[in-house]
Order: sequence, then C-alpha cells, then structure tokens
Amino acid sequence: MAKAIVVAENGGPEVLTYTDVPERAPGAGEVAVRSAAAGVNYIDVYHRTGLYPLPLPLVLGQEGAGTVTAVGDGVTGVAVGDRVAWTGVTGSYAEHVVVPASAAVPVPSGVDDETAAALLLQGLTAHFLVTSSYPVQEGDTVLVHAAAGGVGLLLVQLAKARGARVIGTVSTADKERQTRAAGADEVIRYTEEDFVARTRELTGGEGVAAVYDGVGATTFDGSLASLRRRGTLALFGAASGPVPPLDPQRLNKAGSVFLTRPNLGDHLATPEELRWRTGDLFAAVEKGTLTITIGERYPLAEARDAHTAIESRRTSGKLLLIP
Ligand code: NDP
Repeated sequence: MAKAIVVAENGGPEVLTYTDVPERAPGAGEVAVRSAAAGVNYIDVYHRTGLYPLPLPLVLGQEGAGTVTAVGDGVTGVAVGDRVAWTGVTGSYAEHVVVPASAAVPVPSGVDDETAAALLLQGLTAHFLVTSSYPVQEGDTVLVHAAAGGVGLLLVQLAKARGARVIGTVSTADKERQTRAAGADEVIRYTEEDFVARTRELTGGEGVAAVYDGVGATTFDGSLASLRRRGTLALFGAASGPVPPLDPQRLNKAGSVFLTRPNLGDHLATPEELRWRTGDLFAAVEKGTLTITIGERYPLAEARDAHTAIESRRTSGKLLLIP
C-alpha cells in the first residue's frame, strides 16, 4: 500500500482524502515511480469540483517527478533508478505513481526533482502559448493575466525571451513585485484599475498583439477589448469561472481578431513535440534563463490546504505536494 489523495465525490477541498491505496505494478509500456514531489495545478481544482468531470473515485493530480522503481514489459529507454518527470498522468498526488513510459521525461542532472515537478505542466503550457497559440514576435506587446501565478510567471519570462514587451495583470502589490522581478515591463492591478483602459494607454491606443487569459469569466470581455486589430486572444483557463457562449460576430467587431481555446494535450501530440518542448524548458532552467518559483510546499497529507490556498488567490508561482 502507498499513501495518496483520493477524491470519491466532487466538492470543496474537504473531499480530498489522504489514504492508503494499493501499489499497482507497472503494466506493459509503463514504469512505476517513487514520487519526490507532485505539482498542484488549477486543473486539479476543476477535477475535484467536477467542472472537468473524471470518473470517480480517483487519485487526483496530473504531474510529478521522482525515481523509477520498476519497469513493465516492452519498456526501453527508461530504467530502474532513472529520475523522471511527467505530466498528464491522473493519479500523481501519491507516493507511488504508475506512468506510461512515453510520458516519463528524463530529468537532466542539473535539475533537481522539485524543480522538475514544478516545471512541466505549467511550463509546457506557457511554452505552447508563446510558440504555437500566438507565436510571439520580437517587438510585440502582449498581455498576460494572473501574471504572478504558476503559468503566469513562466509566460512572462518566455514571452520576454522571445523579445516581447510584456504587460501583466495581478491582484496585489506583492504579486506586482514578483511579476516585475520575472521581467514584466508593466504591471496592472486589475482588481483596482480598468486593465482595458490602461492597456490601451500603454500601447498608444493600438492594443496588444495577444492576450494570454487563464482567468476566464471576469477578464474575457476586457481581453477582447484589449487586442489590436487582428490580434489573438488565447483563452486557456477559467480560474474565475467559465466564459459564457459567444456570438462570432463579436470577433468581427473587436477588429477581425482571433480567438483560440487551446489545451496542453493537443500541443504534446507526438513524442517529438514532447521532446522539443521539454528540451527547451530544461535547457532554459539549466542555463539560468528560466526561473522556477516554488511558492509553497505542503506535505502530501495537507493537499486540502494547498487547494484552499490556490483557490483563495493568495498564492504565486508553483505549489508542490511532498509525499
Ligand atoms: P495560478 O497559479 O495562476 O492561480 C490562479 C490565479 O488566477 C490566481 O492566483 C489569481 O491571480 C487568478 N484569479 C483571478 N480570478 C480568480 C478567482 N476568482 N479565483 C481564483 N483565482 C483567480 O494557477 P495555474 O498556473 O495552475 O493555472 C492558471 C490557469 O491556466 C488556470 O485557469 C488553468 O486552468 C489554466 N491552465 C490551462 C492549461 C491548458 O492546457 N489550457 C494548462 C495549465 C493551466 P491574481 O490574484 O493575480 O488575480
């Protein structure tokens, strides 16, 4: 048996139960891992509440890092003792995780387990947003909502690295400080100031080339209104709630703008794509050009506290659970 966080019914953080579950041996094409850290992501909240339904009961969590303890039949390229990280594997809030070998990414020696666990899901999201959803061009001005969040701090850095001028939105002075430290050129406290008017002012009335919006309900209309002509709104999450259905005519009126609603799975479509994106991220971490901010660490048993914290808007950077 091994400890894990189980959800038997949808609800608030109180439905997260720290309990023993059987240790499953890896099947064909799988590896078993002793986890060193599991990442907490906003999608775990959606899985817990049922906004994104998954069959219950389940062990929550999508990502982590640790050491391989056993490999199943037919596995090549991953061996017992290897350090690996993964994302997109439901069941990651656990001491013992069974991972498809195809998702087990080798962790370079210059990257520690906690950094690896903190990097993949949010880092790969930031990566696909700036390379694929709207490929940032040198000299673009882009707007990043919740810029001090897990994805946010990484997006700011990756957009800057591609030569953008970055405007970030945040809710507090402390988050403003962290967002500036990550390299943002301008920061708007969108809880106190009209971010549309300020974005227009900061761009001489033109608007931004792209808005990266993981906040959703409360920002969506303003995000559309902040775009330049033929700009792109990449709506990638719903931290404040889902966006209601919309009339395509609104994209016409906003200046022939583009709206995309991307997900990470579609941007890790092949082994080559996973290698490309993880390779870029690990290389940037090892070179010191990408900084991973671990905001808080919680013992696995205290996953409820981690969920309460991320939903309360008081966190910044990455939250980890340590088995
Ligand atoms: P964050 O660490 O960014 O936490 C969410 C942040 O959203 C908060 O810190 C807060 O920042 C902001 N926020 C604004 N309004 C609210 C609200 N009403 N309740 C809670 N938070 C609010 O989380 P993640 O980095 O894990 O995820 C960010 C977004 O990216 C989420 O929507 C997530 O679902 C999405 N995502 C999407 C993926 C995809 O494939 N499409 C993959 C990964 C993440 P502030 O206080 O500054 O407002």
